[in-house]
Parts: sequence; C-alpha cells; structure tokens
Amino acid sequence: MDLKLLLSTQPGGAFEEKRKSQVKSYFCEKCSTGFTAKGSLKVHLRTVHEGLRPYGCGECNKQFGTRNNLMRHQRIVHLNQKPYFCGACKQYFVTLSSVNRHISRKHKESSVS
Ligand SMILES: [Zn+2]
Ligand SMILES: [Zn+2]
Ligand SMILES: [Zn+2]
Repeated sequence: MDLKLLLSTQPGGAFEEKRKSQVKSYFCEKCSTGFTAKGSLKVHLRTVHEGLRPYGCGECNKQFGTRNNLMRHQRIVHLNQKPYFCGACKQYFVTLSSVNRHISRKHKESSVS
C-alpha cells in the first residue's frame, strides 16, 4: 500500500471542516470523506473502496466490515440478545433508536413517578 495515500491530511487547509469540536484530520483520497481518527479512515478504505469485510460470522458466514457490526449481528441473530433495555418497564430492544422512541413515547410526556 502506498503510504502517501494514508497521509493526505491537510492541516489548516480549505479542506478542514470544523464542526462541533471534532476536527476531521484524515481524508479519504478516493471520495474526500473526512474522519476524526486514522483508524476510521482505514476501516472506511477497507470496507468501502476495497470491499473487504474482514469480520466473518462463524455461524452463518456473513461478513462485516467492523467488529462492532459483527458483534451486534451475533448478539441479535445468534444469541438472541437485545442489548437495549428500558429499566422502567423491563423491556428489551434491538436498536438504540427503538428504545429511545419507546422511552420518549411511554415515559417522557407522562412522567411516571
Ligand atoms: Zn472513501
Ligand atoms: Zn451470523
Ligand atoms: Zn419502558
């Protein structure tokens, strides 16, 4: 791999995007997507441009680009675990957005005490 590809940072250049406090210092030279961490750029290059999915599920041979995605898949599909939990009514949810929606619908407006 050409090292120059990974070092295409442009400190202080017009490329720099200052949003919130996160400065994106690493840019993909193929699609100009910015990343705050070098590791994220590497994962992006691998999964988006090289099509590599290094994390394979041993149970069903599905391939994932990141370890997090693989672990979430295994938890939900093979271990039947739902990682998000509403403490107020003891219900489990598969995704963060579903538990958030649940809480804002059921628990936020009518404050249960
Ligand atoms: Zn890219
Ligand atoms: Zn699987
Ligand atoms: Zn609840």
